[in-house]
Amino acid sequence: MMLFECEDKAIEQAVRDSRDQAAALLPSLEGRDFRGRWRVMAATGLLRADEGSAARKLAMAEGLGWAGLDAGLCYAMTSQLFGMQMPMRPWLSEGQRRRLAGLESGETLLCHALTEAHGGSDPMSMETVAERQPDGSYRLSGEKRFITAAPAADQGLVFVRTGKGRSPFDLSAALVDLAAPGVSRSAPLAKTALPGVPMGVLSFDGVRLSEDDLLGGEGAGFSVLTATTTWERALLMGYALGPMRRMLEQTVEWGRARQHFGRAMGASHLVAGHVADMSLALYRSRQMLYGMARRIDAGAPIRQLSGEAAMVKISVSEDFTRLSQLAAQLGGVRSYIEDSGRAVDLISPLAAMTYAGVNDLLRISVARQAGLPVEN
Ligand SMILES: Cc1cc2nc3c(=O)[nH]c(=O)nc-3n(C[C@H](O)[C@H](O)[C@H](O)COP(=O)(O)OP(=O)(O)OC[C@H]3O[C@@H](n4cnc5c(N)ncnc54)[C@H](O)[C@@H]3O)c2cc1C
Repeated sequence: MMLFECEDKAIEQAVRDSRDQAAALLPSLEGRDFRGRWRVMAATGLLRADEGSAARKLAMAEGLGWAGLDAGLCYAMTSQLFGMQMPMRPWLSEGQRRRLAGLESGETLLCHALTEAHGGSDPMSMETVAERQPDGSYRLSGEKRFITAAPAADQGLVFVRTGKGRSPFDLSAALVDLAAPGVSRSAPLAKTALPGVPMGVLSFDGVRLSEDDLLGGEGAGFSVLTATTTWERALLMGYALGPMRRMLEQTVEWGRARQHFGRAMGASHLVAGHVADMSLALYRSRQMLYGMARRIDAGAPIRQLSGEAAMVKISVSEDFTRLSQLAAQLGGVRSYIEDSGRAVDLISPLAAMTYAGVNDLLRISVARQAGLPVEN
């Protein structure tokens, strides 16, 4: 067994099957817009949330990235699956379930709208508000910024204030039809990380919501957010396993083929040490992610996993960044030439330190759980 294969044979086979399926689909992505590419890749079945375990889904995500699927598209699909579809299931009413039925085929696209102008790290300070009306409906006003897929999405899971204080029960989670009157969205932002998925601003100007638009009813927002962020921190970085594996393979191949000083580059102990560090980063990340998936599949309550999920998110995002940096270093100048076939994207891995909970704040929560009297 190669060092960087999954030790579980069934999982390794699922990764390989997904890689082969994706490789066959990649040519048909040419010339399509973001939604078109999303639909093509949804045909892999990745977004069928009820089919297969979390570990199987992780294997599929790994396979897509290993095949070379654009990191932005892979990130966005993995984010919808693990950060929205799976965690939302316990809260959905029949009507909400019907509205979201198209997520599985890729016909409907959902975005997760939390961050506002002054930042995303402190949800209790959010200003987007859903005010209850005398007829029991709500009026939604405010703005969500830096939202992945917002320029293309049909529905938004929008976190709103329904109370005035800083109690968790002052927040609610609304399923908002982004074609409804009063919703507007910006043009895509000129994002440098993960350019394969658009990002934008969502503005709400007196949008009418019914009671059935709130997941779990008024005041359940913080619980929904805890579930979506914990799931996301636990598994989203699975999308990075494919690119990590690909970069490691390419680097080993390069180290064997490239000649320096009359011998293979990979015969240098320093180069070998860097390749060993890359292997460790992939190995550690895979152990952590599949370990989380197995815990979830075994039925561990998601709220008990938040501390571990934060550690997985920190560790994998930093290993992804370190591995990419080493791949770029060992690839030499070709790492910076777009059509060299060996270009390395250094910005997208770095962005993983920011989304799904900034690593510095996650570190604070880990230290708090370890017993230190430290607040955000
Ligand atoms: C690629 C990408 C995709 C995204 N997609 C979405 C999305 O789909 N939906 C969404 O809602 N948001 C999304 N975001 C936004 C993201 O959630 C926010 O960027 C994040 O919450 C941090 O907010 P901020 O960028 O305003 O950083 P800030 O909150 O300003 O933090 C910046 C830095 O300050 C430091 N810092 C801040 N406070 C502390 C503290 N108390 N202790 C120690 N250090 C601190 C940290 O180093 C931190 O990294 C995305 C971001 C990126 C990069």
